[in-house]
Amino acid sequence: MLDRCDVIVVGAGPAGSTAARYAAEKGLDVLLIDKKKEIGVPVCCGEFNAAPAVLAEALPNASGIDELFSIDPGLVQRVIRGFVVTSPKGREYEFDLSGYTVNRDAFDRYLADAAFRAGAVLSPDTKFIGREGRRVTTSRGEVDARVVVAADGPLSRVCRSAGMEQSAVLAPAISCRVEGEFDDRARLFFGNRIAPGGYAWVFPKQGCANVGLGVQKAATPVPVLLRAFLAERGLAARDIQAGFVPVSGPIPETVRENVLAVGDAAGHVVASNGGGIATAMICGRIAGLAAAGHLLHGEPLKTYEREWRSALGRELLAAARTKRMADRFLGSDFLLERVMGLLGNHGIRNIIVFGGLRKP
Ligand SMILES: Cc1cc2nc3c(=O)[nH]c(=O)nc-3n(C[C@H](O)[C@H](O)[C@H](O)COP(=O)(O)OP(=O)(O)OC[C@H]3O[C@@H](n4cnc5c(N)ncnc54)[C@H](O)[C@@H]3O)c2cc1C
Repeated sequence: MLDRCDVIVVGAGPAGSTAARYAAEKGLDVLLIDKKKEIGVPVCCGEFNAAPAVLAEALPNASGIDELFSIDPGLVQRVIRGFVVTSPKGREYEFDLSGYTVNRDAFDRYLADAAFRAGAVLSPDTKFIGREGRRVTTSRGEVDARVVVAADGPLSRVCRSAGMEQSAVLAPAISCRVEGEFDDRARLFFGNRIAPGGYAWVFPKQGCANVGLGVQKAATPVPVLLRAFLAERGLAARDIQAGFVPVSGPIPETVRENVLAVGDAAGHVVASNGGGIATAMICGRIAGLAAAGHLLHGEPLKTYEREWRSALGRELLAAARTKRMADRFLGSDFLLERVMGLLGNHGIRNIIVFGGLRKP
């Protein structure tokens, strides 16, 4: 492993691999480390991505969408054409929404490989342990790095090393794989019996589906809720993994000392739906370019904070506000039923996909 580099990126998820790719493309020496032995494994994700056109509509100020998301078609497991949303009493709401599912392990490997092809040195099975200024301690030794990218997920140790705040609300979530044939619509299920304060999903893939749920607080542990959801539908789970989704919006400060926080580490998640792959990649690109601007042209690192906020800060804050508002009625199936009825198909789409920012 390198013992000195321009940029060390901690975490080879969508945020880190994208940051590493863009910094390396600018000619910087980039070291991308991940504690996982195999990038992307185990999978803890719904594995759904919105289509680039939906992203461009939802995040109109974000650049690089076409470049970031024109992915290898071989990665697409299933094209999704729409969503069916089921209320606590079983009423169904439908809307069109283009997207696709992936095998998240293959997707993460693809992004890490793009960073490697751009010139980044990839070091799996390498854990970030601590940092003091430029000295970064890992499980494989010390590295001197001019810039450190914290892309190590919602419980970011790198952010802590720079005294950055963590996301205030981490929602427990769990996913698994079930075998079977499913149509090309994704399904969401609301109700406090199923997923208190959140929702359950069934996202179709090839010959199987990703099934999971996310909740506001884990009064009942998420594995218990998932088992009940699957049992009611006669489904058997494989590859169960639980994690957290930061749903309180971006952390207040994403640049401190020589550290940039990106992706889940920075709270870059659309809180109204819990999706964070695309936003992690969009902000990862900005982080990689900002690190290059700083090291090659003396631009302040703070440029990163300004740029990601102008690209998608408004949308992420709006989605977090909407989520906070929704939390008031998500706790009551009666209120939830009423609100869903009032919103209708388009209103529900607007809240979930656009955090309430689009007109129905
Ligand atoms: C159950 C569940 C379902 C989800 N479903 C979806 C979905 O369908 N669509 C969607 O868009 N989003 C979904 N999300 C959110 C999405 O997974 C995240 O927003 C996204 O992965 C963020 O990418 P990231 O690169 O910031 O972090 P991560 O993908 O979490 O990557 C962080 C990386 O850092 C590494 N790391 C952590 N600590 C260290 C350390 N100390 N040293 C070295 N490496 C370290 C980890 O091993 C990991 O590889 C889901 C989340 C959960 C929990």
